[in-house]
Amino acid sequence: MGVTDGWVEIGDRVFVRRYAFYDQNIGVVLGDGEALVIDTRSTYPQAREIQAHLRELTSYPVTVVVDTHGHFDHAFGNAPFRPATIWGHDRCVTFMERTGEARKAEIAREEPDLAADLAEVVVDPPDRTFAETATIEVGGRPVELRYLGRGHTDHDIVIDVPGADVLFGGDLVEQGNVPFFGDGYPLDWVATSAALVSLVTGVLVPGHGDHAGRAFAESQAASFASLATLARHVHDGRRSLTDALAAHPFPDLPPDDARSAFKRAATQLRGDLD
Ligand SMILES: [Zn+2]
Repeated sequence: MGVTDGWVEIGDRVFVRRYAFYDQNIGVVLGDGEALVIDTRSTYPQAREIQAHLRELTSYPVTVVVDTHGHFDHAFGNAPFRPATIWGHDRCVTFMERTGEARKAEIAREEPDLAADLAEVVVDPPDRTFAETATIEVGGRPVELRYLGRGHTDHDIVIDVPGADVLFGGDLVEQGNVPFFGDGYPLDWVATSAALVSLVTGVLVPGHGDHAGRAFAESQAASFASLATLARHVHDGRRSLTDALAAHPFPDLPPDDARSAFKRAATQLRGDLD
């Protein structure tokens, strides 16, 4: 599946569409007379593009949105979906409140083409939250939300659609892209990604890149384990950081991002990251 293929039905009335910007996946679950959208993209024009594309699928209103986590490319498009209920983890709210305005400015500097659109974004965090699991529904159809532990952030959740054999993994897994560690917990990500593997029985939709299956989830989990082991060896003095940077399992990770991953891990190992 490529970025211009439109909506793809990956399970019974469960759809995914890949957008070229950041090669991002947006999910849709259709219930009776209502639609649920997973992640809302970076800006209002991007969110409205989802809404326009939804008309190709359904005339149902979007009554529920789920944010996999609070990063700008997943949740800054929330407001145009109101009055839908927006679900996320408890800490998604605090994360967006704490970082939202600063991120708008940072991203505007990094992505000047988005600056004008980011300026109009009102950070609009989830209004319905949970800590461990929540079963919600869209048009009578149950959808399960689960927090599996810290990883890409301290509040990533996965979305399981019972009966459809589809799991949306958010940025806990990324295909054709390299996971972002800047807000991550590299040591916790090992157990969290193992827990995610155990939930994949059919299709796995990563936050970015093509959808995949259990083998891909297993290989990502192994990579997180290997990165954490390298970080422990650096911490114990058994390896140099230079050596670990050369040996880590994400060869496409830009050098600065790789350093940031090891730095986050080192901070965790020192006990300085709660
Ligand atoms: Zn993210």
